[in-house]
Amino acid sequence: MPSPTIIPSVVLPSPALDPPVISVTDLHKDYRLASNVVHALRGVSLEVRAGEFVAIMGPSGSGKSTFMNLIGCLDRPSRGSYRLDGQEVADLSRTQLASLRNDKLGFIFQGFLLLPRMSAIDNVMLPMVYAGVPSRLRRERACAALEAVGLGARAQHRPNELSGGQQQRVAIARALVNDPALILADEPTGNLDSRTSIEIMAILQRLNADRATIVLVTHEPDVATYCSRTVVFKDGSVLSDQPNRHPARASDMLGPRPDDDNETTAEREAA
Ligand code: ADP
Ligand code: MG
Repeated sequence: MPSPTIIPSVVLPSPALDPPVISVTDLHKDYRLASNVVHALRGVSLEVRAGEFVAIMGPSGSGKSTFMNLIGCLDRPSRGSYRLDGQEVADLSRTQLASLRNDKLGFIFQGFLLLPRMSAIDNVMLPMVYAGVPSRLRRERACAALEAVGLGARAQHRPNELSGGQQQRVAIARALVNDPALILADEPTGNLDSRTSIEIMAILQRLNADRATIVLVTHEPDVATYCSRTVVFKDGSVLSDQPNRHPARASDMLGPRPDDDNETTAEREAA
């Protein structure tokens, strides 16, 4: 008899007990181009509860980025309701949206979007500058966030002195420092090789195990296997929304963890 395959799993949060971080009801977004209207979102309703790790998938043009821009308070819906951490967002002004973004959200992008002339620690401190955190506390919290992603020893490096995976980890540290209610990641592994992608997913899973709520867009089915739920968009609507009761555990895929502070995957491969 063949031995059963053992699928590594992580412990899921108990969604029924946790308050919604995102509560979206009948969300619409129309883009007007000359005489044309594009219905990018056609009545999306969903809730994401504290502690969930949600993958958003779907073909190009299905509305994923539009949805992320709305839940990221970067844009406003044409109609419908969006409550972020209990607060209605749809009617806020641009200034109010900007301050909500800084208070409640951490962003991780495919292209990292680090400021090239600033060291890793200065990049990580930036959101706290906007939030008015006193300078000594900024440095303390930025150091802790860099430690948390295994980059404590690289705090003074500029982005071009870091590998792609390390730059993305700096971006994750930056997303964490204001202790956001929600982390939004748009194709965070899109520019990374597969091992580095798994390293990034291992960090996100660890943050999620520490109660971070994460919504991540990905084209890669492999990446979605590390999440606890997959929502698939099609033509501006939710096509399917499935829990993943046995997410793969990224740290198990990596084998022994290399000492990230001393050597990068790229450096090891070059050696
Ligand atoms: P996805 O991220 O899933 O590829 P998008 O949300 O970017 O999809 O796009 C959804 C639809 O909205 C597409 O038809 C796209 O062409 C259109 N769209 C997106 N952004 C804009 C915009 N700023 N102006 C006009 N149309 C847009
Ligand atoms: Mg997109």
